[in-house]
Amino acid sequence: MLDELYQEVILDHNKSPRNYGVLDKYTCTSEGNNPLCGDRLTIYVSLNSDNIIENISFKARGCAISIASASIMSEVVKGKTVDEVRSLFDYFHNLCTGQEVKQSNHIEDDIEKLKVLSGVKKFPTRIKCATMSWHAIRSALEE
Ligand code: ZN
Repeated sequence: MLDELYQEVILDHNKSPRNYGVLDKYTCTSEGNNPLCGDRLTIYVSLNSDNIIENISFKARGCAISIASASIMSEVVKGKTVDEVRSLFDYFHNLCTGQEVKQSNHIEDDIEKLKVLSGVKKFPTRIKCATMSWHAIRSALEE
């Protein structure tokens, strides 16, 4: 359903998700749930006193897109500030919903990673699969 190159990356993340498991120490946690597809996840975030994400992990059950998206999200947000994550959320949300993506000041490497999931915009029922983990990280950081 997605571009072949992107599909390969998604399958790889699904097969061996990065940052998978529960952190020994975490400062915030949040759950995501996508009943339409049956995807569920819990994320664990360790935020330091400078509001920087020191570490993140997740546990999830669901389709390949939801797992791959959570895995990619965990890679992209590590080391970022809360404000940077909010900005990345907006960028990714626009990417997935097919809205015009404004010129951004995000790191090129992050953008390339996130673009892997942009194919979901052609499949409205899968958008939630891709954005669930991002909604979870955003609500975890709002606590
Ligand atoms: Zn799904």
